[in-house]
Amino acid sequence: MPSRTINILGATGSVGQCAADVVAKNPDRFSVQTVTAHGNTRKLAETAIRLKARKAVLCDRKEEAILRELLKGTEIEIGIGPDSLLESSCSAVDVTLAAIAGLAGLDSVLNALRHSRVVAIANKEPLVAAGPLVMQTARQSGCTLLPVDSEHNAIFQVLDTKNLQSVENLILTASGGPFLNREISELEHVTPAQAVAHPNWSMGAKISVDSATMMNKALEIIEAHYLFDMPGEKIKVLIHPQSVVHSMVEYTDGSVLAQMGASDMRTPLSHALAWPERLPTPGQKLTLNTMKHLTFSEPDPVRFPALKLAYVCLENGPEACIALNAANEAAVEAFLAEKISFYDIVGTVEYIVTQALGSETPMASNSLDDIKKIDGRIRALTQDYISKNPRRRTVAG
Ligand code: NAD
Ligand code: MG
Repeated sequence: MPSRTINILGATGSVGQCAADVVAKNPDRFSVQTVTAHGNTRKLAETAIRLKARKAVLCDRKEEAILRELLKGTEIEIGIGPDSLLESSCSAVDVTLAAIAGLAGLDSVLNALRHSRVVAIANKEPLVAAGPLVMQTARQSGCTLLPVDSEHNAIFQVLDTKNLQSVENLILTASGGPFLNREISELEHVTPAQAVAHPNWSMGAKISVDSATMMNKALEIIEAHYLFDMPGEKIKVLIHPQSVVHSMVEYTDGSVLAQMGASDMRTPLSHALAWPERLPTPGQKLTLNTMKHLTFSEPDPVRFPALKLAYVCLENGPEACIALNAANEAAVEAFLAEKISFYDIVGTVEYIVTQALGSETPMASNSLDDIKKIDGRIRALTQDYISKNPRRRTVAG
């Protein structure tokens, strides 16, 4: 594989650092142009030096002097502020890895789709809240959009795209998170630290909380709908606590094709960054002979009400999906700031989405402006609701 130029957006995060490992393991295959981060200046500087990046972009202006000090004596160019991120995401590179957390990554994803040859997308929130716009932008520019999220990367690897009419179901697997077997009545007292400690995967705070509430799988149902153009009723979820089978495609002839691997994002990243070739991964390898059992079960709708919300939102269209994502981002932020209980996260999202579905506002067009307006309105509604109802709900009440 000839060397590819690459931008890593969100390079200091959990996915960004896994990508840095893949790139560092294969130094002849990648020429790193830009690495970006919101904060965590020290890690940004370390990563830029480790990967011999041409440029490091820091969105938080307050730390500019620290970054300049850390990169003194190197030839690494420095960019500061959100505009610098937007400018870098417009560069004509072979591959952009979109690994920013949340809908904050939307503008840079759209820019990258217009200017990169390939976009490897981990950042799922733009697909959930702006799926039609993201997919249309990729189609119009001819950019190849490759999924990094482990479930969607798994489906991409086993989906027979020439035979889509023979697909019976996409089956997303879910580990069940840290509270799969916890009494529901205990969930009210879960702390942010407990919610962030995932049994199988090491991830950023927001997605770890999403995994614990199963909202992550709800977002992934919508992500799969847009990425693979599949109706909600053909996207199923199975609880698979071992996280070995990352997802499956069931065909009409009864065949079920699965992709397996260790619970290590460096495998889907190695795949997406090298596609259609394959690279040696620095990650763990699967040792099937040490595994006693692989289990699959239906998710409990009482324990995980978030899943139903995904199907309701898909039925109601893109505006409902924007609302789901915005309410969830605001509710998770409030939980991490200890303003609401763990148990309140999904309850808050459910309430706000139901209100949004019942409102008289017109459905969203496919424009970026409309998406941002709706997103902003729903975040404000959620914050307002939370401030009026702090830690309000007990399990009994
Ligand atoms: P993280 O919180 O560990 O890292 C986020 C990165 O984005 C950091 O580099 C941070 O500086 C940057 N960032 C955050 N806010 C920003 C802003 N406003 N502007 C610019 N940069 C900003 O998150 P993560 O766990 O690496 O997840 C990143 C994305 O990938 C998320 O959308 C997540 O859902 C998705 N994802 C993550 C995993 C995983 O294993 N962590 C797996 C699948 C999908
Ligand atoms: Mg996933």
